[in-house]
Amino acid sequence: MAHENVAIIGAGLSGLTLALSLHQQNISSTVYEVRSAPIDIGGAITVSPNALQIIDKLGIYENVLSEGYPCEAFHFRFQDDKPFDTYEIGSVSKYGYPGLRVYRKVLIKELLAKCAEKNIQIIFGKKFNRILSESEAGVTWEFEDGTVGQAASLVGADGIHSLVRSYVHGDIEPKFMNVMAIGATVPTSKVALPKDYALPVTIMSKTHGAYILAPNFPDGSELVIVKQRRIEEHDREGWKHLLADKEGSVEFLRQGTEDFPEIVRQAVSAITPESVSIWPFYQVPKMDKWTSKGGRVSMLGDAAHAIPPSSGQGANQVFEDAYTYALIRGQCDGDSLDSVLPKWQRGRQERIDRLITLAQQMNARRLPESGQNELTEVIGTEDFNMEWLFKPDLEKMIQTWLAS
Ligand SMILES: Cc1cc2nc3c(=O)[nH]c(=O)nc-3n(C[C@H](O)[C@H](O)[C@H](O)COP(=O)(O)OP(=O)(O)OC[C@H]3O[C@@H](n4cnc5c(N)ncnc54)[C@H](O)[C@@H]3O)c2cc1C
Repeated sequence: MAHENVAIIGAGLSGLTLALSLHQQNISSTVYEVRSAPIDIGGAITVSPNALQIIDKLGIYENVLSEGYPCEAFHFRFQDDKPFDTYEIGSVSKYGYPGLRVYRKVLIKELLAKCAEKNIQIIFGKKFNRILSESEAGVTWEFEDGTVGQAASLVGADGIHSLVRSYVHGDIEPKFMNVMAIGATVPTSKVALPKDYALPVTIMSKTHGAYILAPNFPDGSELVIVKQRRIEEHDREGWKHLLADKEGSVEFLRQGTEDFPEIVRQAVSAITPESVSIWPFYQVPKMDKWTSKGGRVSMLGDAAHAIPPSSGQGANQVFEDAYTYALIRGQCDGDSLDSVLPKWQRGRQERIDRLITLAQQMNARRLPESGQNELTEVIGTEDFNMEWLFKPDLEKMIQTWLAS
């Protein structure tokens, strides 16, 4: 089978995972990234076993594990600190891997190091602009600096505001979900955690939303405190102002803490404005295609489907997208992409739809507007058996998709 070079737009988690996964299928690629240096935003994320399985297959698990904080469950408490629920995020005994709190920049660093080891070319400071042409021979595109690129196929791993998407799907705007997360980090030593107090924890109030407290670093020496805020969409200037207003974010995190346990008050009083980070939640409307008609231009990761953050799966699904795309590419040649890749999308979309349902249930737990009654309904009634999510047999899964 003839494998041809793939151009990847974006050196985020999806682009780098894709380059390494394609390399495992003996498919060469070149990654183009608009930033002049590796991306370093967003703080720590929780990586679950489905992604760690892929990280392991790519040969970087041990390194990533050594820089993260392993944990197996998210704990839920009411505002009086009474525990009421747990939500599994990993289990070595059940799924082969724990959940792992790890900085995104660590993941990027390890993926980049492995790319370097495999001689995968990554070109920084190169902004993709638009596709010029697509034919059976391949794809031609233009960079913002006016230069032109050519490859047998191209994958947009260029994030939520993807430019590749406009070629594949026509204009489609990411939708702001009227929620953002505001977080800040504090040294764990500043918080007098009761003995055996299980972390990460979400502490819920009827009227003041919820605080998430989650440890970072292998020794748990850093604690991130996060709260979601309902907010209207802003224009560009408005967002700029809001993101720059770190003092305002600290103030928001400090509001209403009188209704929460002492550890929340201790944590928020130790916050410094420099440690604040903000994550506005956007979602890309569901799209009927992730691949162009000719089959030679595709998109994946946040470009194709921003997953609601309350599922904790945005980054995790990015790993699945990239790895399964490469498995599929390993089994077909350039001429069959237009018929094979829609099967990949259907299979991926089914998992994402199931996740979105899960995320809606998680949101109902975390935001005050959902009300205590709704919260009570959720507790104990939802089947949170996570095997389907955390232990997918990806190789078998793509065989099923290909046979469909
Ligand atoms: C602040 C923050 C916190 C988060 N926390 C979590 C979490 O706790 N758990 C979780 O699961 N997920 C989390 N996420 C979501 C998760 O990080 C994303 O789902 C994931 O990183 C998406 O990866 P991606 O590679 O598809 O896109 P991105 O990470 O957005 O990467 C896209 C890359 O493409 C580059 N690019 C864009 N346009 C062009 C262009 N025209 N030409 C060349 N390059 C281009 C960008 O510079 C970037 O490097 C968080 C996201 C943010 C922003």
